[in-house]
Amino acid sequence: MKKLFSALLTALALAAVAPSAHAQEKKDAKPAPEIRLYHLDCGNITVTDLNVFSDTDAYIGKSKDLVASCYLIKHGEDWLLWDTGLPASTPRLADVTTRPFILSLQETIPEQLKKLDLKPEDIDYIGISHGHFDHTGQANAFPNARLIIQQAEYDFMTGQTETAMNYHMPAEAIANYVGEAAKEKRMLLSGDTNIYGDGTPKPISLPGHTPGRMALLVVLPKTGPVVLSGDQWHFEENRKWNGVPSFNYNRADTLASSDKLNKLIKNRHARIIIQHDPLDNAKLPALPEYLN
Ligand SMILES: [Zn+2]
Repeated sequence: MKKLFSALLTALALAAVAPSAHAQEKKDAKPAPEIRLYHLDCGNITVTDLNVFSDTDAYIGKSKDLVASCYLIKHGEDWLLWDTGLPASTPRLADVTTRPFILSLQETIPEQLKKLDLKPEDIDYIGISHGHFDHTGQANAFPNARLIIQQAEYDFMTGQTETAMNYHMPAEAIANYVGEAAKEKRMLLSGDTNIYGDGTPKPISLPGHTPGRMALLVVLPKTGPVVLSGDQWHFEENRKWNGVPSFNYNRADTLASSDKLNKLIKNRHARIIIQHDPLDNAKLPALPEYLN
């Protein structure tokens, strides 16, 4: 009985200690970083021959208006820009000389950052889904940013091979991050990467369209998981039929990556935003509003 009593006392003493220890732990734990997702308009692309988006002739004689989109993600104190759209030199009115893609850009990224009281110097990271011209156009406009890119994509772009040029992936587009002197300015990834250790934002490796293409998973506190497509698909209908564009690096890899991303979206109950789809992007809040 005496033994039991002392055991009980010990248990009570522990119980008395436990809440305060827990409270201390709570006090020490950092609050979860604030996560926000902003949508930026990074250009308009009218595709005069939509069949370039099918290597099986799904869109003969069709045309379509697409958008180029960029996204700004706030993670605590950090700002990460996802893709950098059409070049700032793109005309404001549709340039019809650029067929089959008629291009225009209403506002540059720095112009849009002003609406958030941000300057190009405030951007900590730029993540490039892939090296195509419509995703790297303004990559050199952020002097303090580190480039986040898959190693395979970086190698392909900077190898300056004719193949890379044929894929509209000139190394000059990321000139600020190339070379020995700029070594600290790039973060070269090999596969899916948990950048902050808390799973958001998380680049998802999807080779195929280009050698090192990736999407971005962003887990928002209210909205939940959101996936930025990074051109796995170019518009909703294209996703439904699992289409492969005529300008594509490796067909088998593109299909395998499509399967991977669809399963991730399903398992995480994620909202998919196809970056070139005007409808997906029109549903997002306009600056300075954001999704959280
Ligand atoms: Zn694109």
